[in-house]
Amino acid sequence: MDKNWSEKNKEIQKLLSKEAAFDEAISKLTGFREELFQQITWIVEGYPDKAFYQMPFAGVNGYHSKTLAYSIWHIFRIEDIVAHEMIAEDEQILFREKFLEKTASPIITTGNELEGEKIAEFSKKLNVKELYLYAKAVKESSDRILLQLQYKDLKRKFSDDARQRLIESKCISEDENAFWLIDYWCGKDVKGLIQMPFSRHWIMHIEAMQRIKNRLCKIARKGIDPVAVCGLSCNHCFLGAWCGGCRTEYNACSFATCSEDRICPNVKCCNEKNIDGCYECSELETCEKGFFVPSNDGANAAKAQSLYIRKYGKKEFMKVQARLHEKYDFQKVQEIIGQDHKEALRILEEN
Ligand code: SF4
Ligand code: SF4
Repeated sequence: MDKNWSEKNKEIQKLLSKEAAFDEAISKLTGFREELFQQITWIVEGYPDKAFYQMPFAGVNGYHSKTLAYSIWHIFRIEDIVAHEMIAEDEQILFREKFLEKTASPIITTGNELEGEKIAEFSKKLNVKELYLYAKAVKESSDRILLQLQYKDLKRKFSDDARQRLIESKCISEDENAFWLIDYWCGKDVKGLIQMPFSRHWIMHIEAMQRIKNRLCKIARKGIDPVAVCGLSCNHCFLGAWCGGCRTEYNACSFATCSEDRICPNVKCCNEKNIDGCYECSELETCEKGFFVPSNDGANAAKAQSLYIRKYGKKEFMKVQARLHEKYDFQKVQEIIGQDHKEALRILEEN
């Protein structure tokens, strides 16, 4: 488990045990959930729909054997059921806010009963944008429930009525891979439920999602030119684990994720000019498009790298990148060559 997340979770659980620290524990828990949810947001914003039904680890043991879409569905179906059928005893977000129709999900269950290809088939049917909005709505609703809790509520146990409600909801499949959840949840008090579906369960599945997306990016980059159209080197970029590169559909560069149809303005412009990259463009020196917008800290460095490629070619460029990154990390290299692009070109030439 991610060490930093694990430590944060442990600290929150410790604070939850002390009445005097209860408010602090809930505030830290909602803050931590926000931090974890950001990972899901970046994944949803960064990747094409097809990424959400791929199973790059199909058949292995572990949560990473599922898909990105399944992981989101599963985390938030479980939380929706537990938060509303058990703790708040009101209507689930899935039904209250019509997310069953919006997500186009063929199931109302947690998905525990699905295996192998069925997970990919199910994932393919989901509307990813609506799935994300469902996850967000569940998170926000649970946060409100958490903020209304008092310390004494933590010890509340669940009677047979709760068990009956869960069964009647039909939200937990009768399949043996799923039905055990009812006994598991009903055997806990509110504190125990907070420990699992509201935090630890998120960590485990979000970590699995990171493994899936890292693998998908790696597959996408295989055999693809590692020189980005703006002149950066994808092989040395700090976003390497998140971005499949701007020559693939897995372009998670911020300039792509913020643009219409997730296409970086530099990529779009190069495509329109039918050129390989900005280094082939006669307007490079004065261009202020996309990555070269003056407000972008990396603009000068990228431009200098493009100028270097124009003068010496990609092969020499990759060699100079390798030499620089032997001495410094990505951030430092960008800083060193982040000044006036003519001066930065001179520094590249000297290395
Ligand atoms: S952010 Fe740009 S340089 Fe970095 S990996 Fe993505 S496309 Fe390549
Ligand atoms: S105009 Fe700018 S963005 Fe377009 S190809 Fe030329 S350098 Fe790249």
